Amino acid sequence: MNYTVNLLRSQFVTHDVKHFIVSKPAGFSIVPGQGVELAINLPDLREQGRPFTPTGLAADRVLEFTIKGYADHADGVTRLLHQLEPGAELLMSEPFGTISYQGPGVFIAGGAGITPFLAILRDLARMGELDRQTLIFSSKAPRDVICEKELRHLLGDRCMLLCSSADAPGYDHRRVDRAFLEEKITDFDQRFYVCGPPAFMEAVNGALTDIGARSESLVFER
Ligand SMILES: Cc1cc2nc3c(=O)[nH]c(=O)nc-3n(C[C@H](O)[C@H](O)[C@H](O)COP(=O)(O)OP(=O)(O)OC[C@H]3O[C@@H](n4cnc5c(N)ncnc54)[C@H](O)[C@@H]3O)c2cc1C
Repeated sequence: MNYTVNLLRSQFVTHDVKHFIVSKPAGFSIVPGQGVELAINLPDLREQGRPFTPTGLAADRVLEFTIKGYADHADGVTRLLHQLEPGAELLMSEPFGTISYQGPGVFIAGGAGITPFLAILRDLARMGELDRQTLIFSSKAPRDVICEKELRHLLGDRCMLLCSSADAPGYDHRRVDRAFLEEKITDFDQRFYVCGPPAFMEAVNGALTDIGARSESLVFER
C-alpha cells in the first residue's frame, strides 16, 4: 500500500452504508470512477486490502468513501471499517480501474455499485453537464437507496429508482432486465455504464447487447 491516511469522520447514509471522510495524502490524484484498495492499519488486518471507490470530488481536500458494511461476513473488513472511530489509520493504494466518464449515457447501478457513478455524476454536476445523463439505480428496498435525495435532485426525471423486493410509491418494483430497458430507453446507440454485483453486471450487460447496444459502448470494471 502506498499511503497511510486517517479516518476523520464517519456517518450513516443508509442503515448499512456509511460515508467515511479520510485525510487526503499530498499529491494524491484520482479520476472520478477509479477505485483504491483500503486496509485497516492493524497487525492482523494490514494485508487484508479491499477495493473501494472514492465518491467525493477530485479537487476536495479530503477523500470520501461510501461503504456498505456486511455484518454477516465473519472475517469481513467492511464490518470492522464500520466500527472504526475517528483517528484510526488506514492504508491506501494508488488508484486503479477502468470506469471513467467517456461521454453522455445511461448509468446503470445495483446497490453499492452506485459509488463510481456518484463520483462521476457529482463531477458532471460541478461542470453543469448532467442534462444528457440518465441513471437507473436498483436497490432491494427504499431504505437501501444510497444518496437518494441527492440523486433525485441532480437528475430529476432521469433518475429511475427500482426496488427488487419492495413495492413502494416512487420506485419501480422490478429488476433491470431486457423488458425494463426496452420500455425506458429509446436510444441504444449511446454509452452505457454498468456497475453492481457480478450477477447484476452479467444480466444487464447481456440484456443490453441482446437489444443491440454495441459492446464497445459498455463501460464497466473489467
Ligand atoms: C473496483 C471495486 C470498487 C468497489 N467499491 C466499493 C465502494 O465504493 N463501496 C462499497 O461498499 N463496496 C465497493 N466494492 C465492493 C467491496 O470491495 C466489497 O463489498 C468488500 O470487499 C467486501 O469486503 P468484506 O471483507 O466485508 O467481505 P468479503 O471480502 O466478501 O469477505 C470477507 C470474509 O467474510 C466472510 N463472508 C463472505 N461472504 C459471506 C457471506 N455471504 N456470508 C457470511 N460470511 C461471508 C468470509 O469469511 C470472507 O472470508 C468495490 C468492489 C470493487 C471490485
